[in-house]
This record gives sequence, C-alpha cells and structure tokens, in this order.
Amino acid sequence: MGHAQRTIDNNSPAPLGRDAPHPATQESPPPPTTADDFMALGHTPMMAQYHSVKQAHPDCLLFYRMGDFYELFYDDAEIASSVLDITLTKRGKSQGDAIPMCGVPYHSYDPYLAKLIKAGYKVAICEQNETPDEAKARAKKEGKPASKALVHRDVVRVITQGTLTEDNLLGAKDNNYLTCLAVVNKQYALAYAELSTGDFCVQPMNNEDIQTILDSLQSAEILISEDLALEFERQYGRDTYPVTPVNSVFFSYDHARRQMGKIFGTENLEAFGGFGRAEITAAGVLLDYIDRTQKGKIPHLSKPRQVASGQIMQIDGATRRNLELIRTMNGEKKGSLLWALDQTLTNAGGRLLQAQICAPLLDAGEILSRLDRISIFTEDPTLKETIEDYLKSVPDFERALARLTAGRGGPRDFLSIRAGLTSAEVMRGVLQNHPQAREVFDKVFQALSLSPALCAFLDILKKAIKDEPPFLARDGGFIQEGYNSRLDELYALKDNSRKLIAGLQSKYKTDTKIDKLKISFNNVLGYFIEIPARHADALLEESRGGNGPYIHRQTMANAVRFTTSELADLERDMAQAAEKSLGLELAMFQEFLDALLPLADEISNAAKAMAHIDVARSHAQMALNHDYVRPNIGNAAEFHIEKGRHPVVELSLKAQNESFMPNDTDLGSDQSLWLLTGPNMAGKSTFLRQNALITIMAQIGCYVPAASATIGLVDKVFSRVGASDDLAQGRSTFMVEMVETAAILNQATPQSLVILDEIGRGTATFDGLSIAWACVEHLHERNKCRGLFATHYHELTSLSAKLPRLVCYSMAVKEWKGDIIFLHNVVQGSADRSYGIHVAKLAGLPGDVINRAKDILAHLQKGEQSGKLSSLSEDLPLFSTAGQAPASNTDHTKNPLYDALTALNPDNMSPKEALEQLYQLKSLAHDSDALK
Ligand code: ATP
Repeated sequence: MGHAQRTIDNNSPAPLGRDAPHPATQESPPPPTTADDFMALGHTPMMAQYHSVKQAHPDCLLFYRMGDFYELFYDDAEIASSVLDITLTKRGKSQGDAIPMCGVPYHSYDPYLAKLIKAGYKVAICEQNETPDEAKARAKKEGKPASKALVHRDVVRVITQGTLTEDNLLGAKDNNYLTCLAVVNKQYALAYAELSTGDFCVQPMNNEDIQTILDSLQSAEILISEDLALEFERQYGRDTYPVTPVNSVFFSYDHARRQMGKIFGTENLEAFGGFGRAEITAAGVLLDYIDRTQKGKIPHLSKPRQVASGQIMQIDGATRRNLELIRTMNGEKKGSLLWALDQTLTNAGGRLLQAQICAPLLDAGEILSRLDRISIFTEDPTLKETIEDYLKSVPDFERALARLTAGRGGPRDFLSIRAGLTSAEVMRGVLQNHPQAREVFDKVFQALSLSPALCAFLDILKKAIKDEPPFLARDGGFIQEGYNSRLDELYALKDNSRKLIAGLQSKYKTDTKIDKLKISFNNVLGYFIEIPARHADALLEESRGGNGPYIHRQTMANAVRFTTSELADLERDMAQAAEKSLGLELAMFQEFLDALLPLADEISNAAKAMAHIDVARSHAQMALNHDYVRPNIGNAAEFHIEKGRHPVVELSLKAQNESFMPNDTDLGSDQSLWLLTGPNMAGKSTFLRQNALITIMAQIGCYVPAASATIGLVDKVFSRVGASDDLAQGRSTFMVEMVETAAILNQATPQSLVILDEIGRGTATFDGLSIAWACVEHLHERNKCRGLFATHYHELTSLSAKLPRLVCYSMAVKEWKGDIIFLHNVVQGSADRSYGIHVAKLAGLPGDVINRAKDILAHLQKGEQSGKLSSLSEDLPLFSTAGQAPASNTDHTKNPLYDALTALNPDNMSPKEALEQLYQLKSLAHDSDALK
C-alpha cells in the first residue's frame, strides 16, 4: 500500500494554516480569504464562514461542527462518504448549486476519524467556540440583528498520522514518529518526535545514511521541504515514505531557532548540546508543524536528545522486510521477530522493544550492559517474578502524560500517573534491596528515585483523585471526599437534596392520599410530581383555583404532572450546588495540570525507566522459556554460532509439537563465505535468516536461540532472500532482485554480514549462473564480508577451489523408498541435486506434469553429458503424446521395456542403482520405440 499522505487539493501544496504565503500578482486579484470575501461571492453567511476556514486548510478534510455533528461539504464530503461508507446527502444551495454533504456524530466520531487518518488523510477539526446566546450578544454589540448572528467557529486541531496522541487511534505497542528531514549547506539532519510519549531526538547524518535511518524509524509522517520533495521522491520512490511537503519558507534556520527557543523557553540552544544548523532547522520545523497542527497546545516533549550518527547497525529497507523484523512480508505483526520476542507486560515496554529491534547497536559497552540487565533476571527468577507482579499493574502513564499536557487528558489520566508513579516507588524499593540489580539498573534506579516535588505531587493525587473517576473532567465527580471541605459541603448539599426530594415525595403522598404519586426528573421539565390521570381531578381543580401548593405543568395520556414552589426551590439549590461543585472541580483539575507541567520530564523518565525493566524482563523470559543464551561480543572477524535456531520458525514448530534442528555456523576468517547448496525445502533460507536474526538479536542486547554465540560486531546486515516485485515503482521481480543485490555489493564492508539466497534465479539459466558466479567472486574479493550464499547453481561449488575463504556446505537429506527426507542439517560439502521435481510432487502438481518433467530432466542431464542440449525438443516427443498411456490392446509380453521393468526389484536397489536403471529404461524406450 502506498504511504503518501493524501492531499485533498492536489494542485495546492500542503500549507497548514494561513501562514503559507499566497503569491498575488497584479493581474490576478488576491484570492478570497475572509468570510466577508466569500459572502461577496454570493455564499450564504454560514457557507462563507465554512469556505474561509477551509481555504486556510486546503490539504485537510474539514470536520465543521454543526450542533451534534461534524459536517463535511463538497469534495471533502464525497471523499469521506466513500472512505467511511456513509450516505452522501445535499444541503441547500450555495452560488446556485446543491452542496454535497455528509456528517459524523460529534459524540462518537473517533472510529470515523481513525479510518480517514489510516487512509492517509489529514483532518481539521473546526469547533463552535461560542454558544448561540454568546453569538447573539456579540451581534448585538456589533450592531447587527441578533437573528443573523452566526456562531463563531475555528479549527482547534489538525489531526495527521504523525501527530496522534489518542490511545484509540494508536497501536498500544507501536511507536508513531513524526520526523523532519532538513538539509542546510549540504549538512543533513533528522529530527523525530513521538507526540504520544514525548520522545524527541535529533540526528546529524550523511546523505548515504538517510534511507537506513528512515527505515529504522518507520515514521508515521515525514516532513520535507517542498523544494526537496520531488528529488526525494525521485531518489527513494514515490510511495516509499509517508511524506508531507512543507512550505520551504519554514525551513529557515532563524525561524527554526526561534521556534525551538519559544517552545523550550530558552534563547540559548547550546544548553541542549552542540547542535548543527541542519539539526536545529529540522527540530524547529518539526516543532513549528506540531505547533500549527495542535493550534498551540503542544504535548510535553523531552528536551531534544542528540543521537550521534553511526551508533546503530545499518539495515536497509529491503533487508528489514526480508528478515521480517517488525512485520511479516504480508504486513502482519504475527510471525515477525518482534512478535516472537515480545513478552513485555506494559505498552511502553512493547514500544521500547520495537524501537530496539529497529536499531541494533554498534557499541559493545551498551550491548553488554543490556545483557547484564537480562542476566539479573535469568539468574534470579524470584526477582523476576516479583517485578512481574508490579509491572502487570503499570498503566501507560507516558501516554497519559502526553494527553494531559496537550490539553486532551481527563481525570483517568491523572489516575494513570498516580498508579505509574506509585509502581515506580515500589520498583525502586525492590531494586534497592537487591545490590546487583541496583548496580546494573543504575540509570533506571536514578530515574525511579522521585524528587521531593514529585513525591508531593503524587501525594496530592493519592488524596485527591477518586479510584474510579469519570472519563471527562467536565462530567465532574472525580475528587475524593475529604480532599476539599468546600467541595464536600456542595457534595453534601447534592446528596442531601436527594434525601429532601424523597422526603417531599412521601409528604405529598400523605397529603394527597395518592399512593402512586412520584417525583421524577427529565431534561425538559426538570423535577416534577407525576400522578396517574385517574387521580388528577382534585389537584387540577386546586391548581386552577390557585388555592393549594400544586401547579399544573403537563398532561399526558395516562398521567398528569405538577410542581410546587417548594420543589422548584429545592431544584434550584441543587442545580446551583452541582454547578458550583463542577466549577470547583474543574479549577482543581487545572491546578493539578499546572503542577504537572514542571514535573513532566521527571514523570516521563520514570515511565521510560520502567519500560527498560520490562524489556529486560521480557528477554529473560524468552531466554528461560526457550533456552536462549547470552551472546559474546567477539573480535571483528569472529562469527561462531553453535546449535543456532530460527527464533520464529522454532516457535511455529513448537506450536505443532515439532522440533527445530539446530545448526552450527562458523564464519571465521578462514571460511568467512559459505556456499550453501541443497534441495528445495531443505531449510536453506531458514538457516540464512536465522544467522542474520541471531546477529541482530545479539546487537540489540538480547539473548539468542543457540547453545553459544560469539559474534564480532557487525556494522551492516544485508539480506536478499526470496522474490518480490515492486510494480508500483515500475520494477519487475528480477529488477528488484538486481537493485537489492547491487546495494549489497556496493555497500558491504569487511565488518558486514551478507545473506544472499538464490541470486540470479529470475532470469535465463546461464545469465543467472553468470551473475551468481560474479557476485560470489565480488563478495569474496572486494567486500571481504562474512556471508552465506545459498544457490541451486551447483556449478558454483567449483569456485571453492579458487577462493580460499569460500567453503561449501549443504543441507543433508536422506533418500528412502523413493522419497527424500529433509534432515534440515547443515553439513560440509556440496549437494549434487535440488530434488525440485520431488518437491513439486509434494506440492501437488498433476502426475502427468511430474512424469513429463522427469523425462525432460533425464534428457537434459543426458544431453549435458553428451553436449547435445540443443536437440532437446527434437529428441523429446510432445507432452500430449508422451503422457498418453499405452493402447489397451498392446501385447506387453512382446515389449522389451515391459520385460526390463518386470525384471527390476526396486527394494534391492540403492538410490544410485535405481537412477541408473531409470536411465537405461529411458534409453530403451527411445531406442526400441517401445511405447508406440
Ligand atoms: P527453497 O530452496 O525451496 O527456497 P529452502 O531450502 O530455502 O527451500 P526453507 O524455506 O528454509 O527451505 O525451509 C522449508 C521449511 O522447512 C520451513 O518452512 C521449515 O518449516 C522447515 N525447516 C527449515 N529449517 C528447519 C530446521 N532447521 N528444523 C526444522 N524445520 C526446518
């Protein structure tokens, strides 16, 4: 699926807000912008307001709030109705034409929004920001008739894939990066932020590393200057990345610098570290975009962290896809490495694990310290279990923090923060009591040691927030009793009023002697007294005469409703108490928010610290469940894996009660390139991939599926496994294969690991063989990398005589009663056959095709031996005749082929003898023309 963010008006770039300049020339009058401009063009006041808002957000679908609905008009309506599968209607006319329209309910618009964002659209939410009464009062002030007052509306937020913070629009364990690429004076830099967690990083880089870094981030949205967008597309493909072009005026260094200063409240950017101009520009543009989409309500972001270039293993996009690190080739999480390894108990832990798998390390020290953290848990399962119990109750409080700081949070988010910080305190205590854990988790321990200010805040939250508060602050009722005496009084009044209503009801029952009398409530009448119609006459009479307390309100079919001044007074007191208590609660909510903001960094660090504990525990769990071992980081040329297994295939086989056959790999300096041959289905691709995955796992700092593993740090992993095409980019299967192979041969270094599977398969045999041959030579002589090269071109095995570091290995199979058994065992030496026809038979190809293929194979092999391949089609009868059974009246006894066949005793033959007999039978068949 394409990744590009969709723009609604393809002719307009993608400015957000009115700040994008409109070049006005003398010939063309400036385009209309205000509602008055649009009214002058003949639009109704409301549609004029709509157009003025829409023209400032041309690249977004505009959700225009009208009462209980968000309405969409014109093209937006057509797009939304088709994407959301909702009815497209028409609304009145504007400038003479009916206006296409559709709407989604305001109270439950999330699923609709999610669908549109997922389909690549941006959505601008336009709210009414005054009530109809306020609009009338304003009109009056402006000297306009109140009847013509139009409620003021404006966009309160632009929602794009990269700026989401809502739990229901995000995968709980998925990172959602908004990224900006900037180029200043040929210096390149990326800035990326996760709005839902507050992570914010900048990274300088070389032009050549752009793709690798972008691939490792898997960003949800990438901001690029309009000037660069075309070039970017030309270089990396049209829909490869979800690009949002941004007006190039925003990419000015000074503008970006100001933006950084504004958001982080400092003029002195040096405080963040030595950032280059490109880094500051990227960070500033990113912040500016967040500012404009969030309309100033920016969620908490950590101070930008500088990621030095060259800190992570390079894995290009093709390799990531081939190795199925985060998703399978089909785009599923299930079946990927992440899926196999994820035993995390918290969402933040899941996101951290994903980020780590995307970015294996090159720093041995950091890898070892991650491994040390796992060892703590593998060596002390009791500690692991204790931590598990606490982790299970840790909520996703870094996302709660982001929502609160963006002004979109509610009381439950405070509850999350309360629970998260409480767990942090407990977890800190656990580490403190375990000296070894305390040492290896030192940084984590520091982050879990809450400052006095944060402890005080936590104390407030513990006392203030109810255990089961409502979702929205505006619903009220989230402050615990006893926290605020004024609020307690108001609550008491509310509660007491309920008792008073009950008291009034029984009093009125006694007074009127009507047992069925009751006091009820609805939104139209408020509180009222209701009695069955058959008892109503006396009270109606009283009401008419005005000589009793009962005042008639409404007559229904079976009931009549009354009120009394007593009831009305009580109702007024209750409403006032509710209003006052809500006002007080909202003020307290704001107080908590104000107190939270300066503590946001610390809370965020505590959340991240717990995610690190969770990930280490998850790896330890995998290690204990599946016998993984701690890898050793060896010297540069080492690569020695004993009894290695494929982490994902092993899991699937276990699920079917089957076991995985482990294999050794030694790519030491004297045999750094392995040429692997063997039958189809024997396990070559699995073996290749498992070595790449074990390497990646070792460098993310996790235990690996092997009996032992010593790996010298690998700078880049390359994999070319399996066929795929990229028709959208105009590339055939073979072209894709060659592009990926070219990237490998051009970039692999002696520190790299390359796995290549069946290179040259997609073209004519000799072309393919020649390409594969030349690639092996290049890898050996030029790249000098560690590598595994699987092939069905058995001819290549002869290269091992010439290339000293090339060794031949093959997948062992056993032949038994005419069948082959895959042993999945890698042994030294080369295979002489691929048994492709056998696998085709297993796959269910029709019997006559299988027989025919066997004939052809026999001929080919014979022709190859005699050098007569070219006469193949003349020698072989056509399929239609070759597959036919002999005529029924054939006298078999006179047939020499029949005689030879009946003389055979297959049970006494070795596979080799059987093959020889088969050849003899074939030549007999042809020589004597026996089948005719
Ligand atoms: P082809 O040449 O046809 O592409 P291949 O030799 O690359 O085949 P794989 O695709 O690696 O073979 O493996 C085929 C199947 O064999 C796998 O799906 C897996 O179920 C099983 N298999 C592979 N390796 C092992 C192993 N070491 N132990 C157990 N089963 C294995």
